[in-house]
Amino acid sequence: MPTAFRQSDLEAYLDEALPAEEMALFERALREDRALMRQLTAVHARRNAGVHSLGEIWRRHRLSCPTREQLGGWFLQTLPDETADYVAFHLEIVGCRYCQANLRDLQAQVAEDQKTVQTRRRKYFQSSAGYLRSAK
Ligand SMILES: [Zn+2]
Repeated sequence: MPTAFRQSDLEAYLDEALPAEEMALFERALREDRALMRQLTAVHARRNAGVHSLGEIWRRHRLSCPTREQLGGWFLQTLPDETADYVAFHLEIVGCRYCQANLRDLQAQVAEDQKTVQTRRRKYFQSSAGYLRSAK
């Protein structure tokens, strides 16, 4: 396999910011390619020395990531088109694992909230049914 990875890919790999498929591809390449391994080691050493590229700083601080509110809005389809397109791009094309995890968490929370509301309704209904019965 030719070394078709760029510096930014190496950094993304170290940050585990590549889409899952690319992470696997990269790991396979690493095992077969000593030059790539050396390159990765060099990037790692440089980072430990406190030198950061712009791409790396960007990822570290997640400047391109939508906010949790925007992710929630995207999930509930309440965002303006332009923002929704951006979030979709970020999740599906960029494949940001941080935001994907965040979104899964939001979805779980929404599902949990719905369950709570249903339980509360049922309890309320049961208690008022009991009240109506005993009031007869
Ligand atoms: Zn993100």
